[in-house]
Parts: sequence; structure tokens; C-alpha cells
Amino acid sequence: MGIRILLIEDEDAIGDFVARGLREEGFTVEWATDGDDGWHRLRTQVWDMVLLDWWLPGQDGLTLLKKLRQAGCDTPVLMLTARDAVSDRVRGLDGGADDYLCKPFAFEELLACVRARARRPGATAGTVLAHAGVQVDLATHRAERDGQKLNLTAKEESLLVFFLRHPDEVLSRTRIYEAVWDERYDGLSNTLEVHVMELRKKLEAHGPRLIRTVRGRGYVFGIEPE
Ligand code: CA
Repeated sequence: MGIRILLIEDEDAIGDFVARGLREEGFTVEWATDGDDGWHRLRTQVWDMVLLDWWLPGQDGLTLLKKLRQAGCDTPVLMLTARDAVSDRVRGLDGGADDYLCKPFAFEELLACVRARARRPGATAGTVLAHAGVQVDLATHRAERDGQKLNLTAKEESLLVFFLRHPDEVLSRTRIYEAVWDERYDGLSNTLEVHVMELRKKLEAHGPRLIRTVRGRGYVFGIEPE
């Protein structure tokens, strides 16, 4: 989608996981592994979004963020950090960060933040997920099927977003539950089934079934193959 992201992160494992994952999603990612290199790239190139680690060799993340804002640059900045104390969050946000992600984070979580933030003024292409005539705009939370608005609860929307990110793929209840509810799935509660049923009803008011049950395995979102 041509969105350019600068990642400034010194930990190889995290940098590699983030850069690879975002490239697979179609983003253009450059990765700086220390604060000085990061600053150089911030000054010399135009970015749609910056993913910034807090602790870095050379200049630290908060220093870079403050310098960037002082220079009048309003590129969205997402702080990636293990520092999750409230005072640190406040410092980061005061320093001009747009959002915050505490390590360790799930890739889905990062992707949601990036999609919500990394957009050029006036452009929405990067924020709309669509499959089989269904779409959700992550920025406005508008959900539609074939142009008809769907009135979804927040959970139903999260569930639909997860399905839209994994179209035509068999998704186990465990995987869906952990991604959407952010809790371990104990297999006992029927919360997931109830939400799937509600979401189905709303989708099926405008067309054939899209969330199919695969017995013993989970669910698939998409048009049934002929
Ligand atoms: Ca670090």
C-alpha cells in the first residue's frame, strides 16, 4: 500500500519480527538499529509513521521524539517499549507520542495500531479491510456489507476485523478467542459461539452465509467455494 514506516529498534528479535511482519502486510519498512542512525533517517527522508523504541544506543527514543516534535514534524509516532509504568506512558505522550505499545506485544496488536495511525492526510486506503463484499474502516469503525451499514458492537467489530485479516483460512476457536478477547481460551464458555451467532445474523441480513463452521476445527470467513 506504499505506506513508509521507519522502525527504530536495537533488539534484533523484535526488529526482525516487526519489520518482516509489516512487509508481509505490504508496508515499506526501513529499520534503524540505533538512535543516531534513526535521527539521520528521520531528518533526511519522509515517513508516514515511526515505530520508536524507548531505550536505544546513541540518542534514546524520548529524546528523538522531542527533537522531532520541536522540528515541527507531526508524523505519527508509536512508542514500543517494555516500560509500562504510568509515569513513563505520560512522559511518552507528553513528549508527543501518538500511541504506545508495551513489549511483549502481539503482532495483531501492532498491526491494528499501525493501520489506525499510519495514514496520509485525507487517505483511507490503508485503514480499510475488505473481503467478500464486507468491509470495515478501522479509522471510522464503519462496517458494511455490499454497501449496507452493519450496526456492530465493539466485540463483533473486533471479531469481524480478525476474520477480515484472515479470509478463507480455518481459524481455531483458541486462536480467535485469544486474539479478540485477549484471554486464554478454556473451551468451556460459549462466549465466542454467541458472538459468532450474532455477527452471522447481522451479516446474513444482507446476503448468504460468510462465517462457516468447520466441524472440530473452527471457523472460516469467506464465500463457500463451488
Ligand atoms: Ca531497546
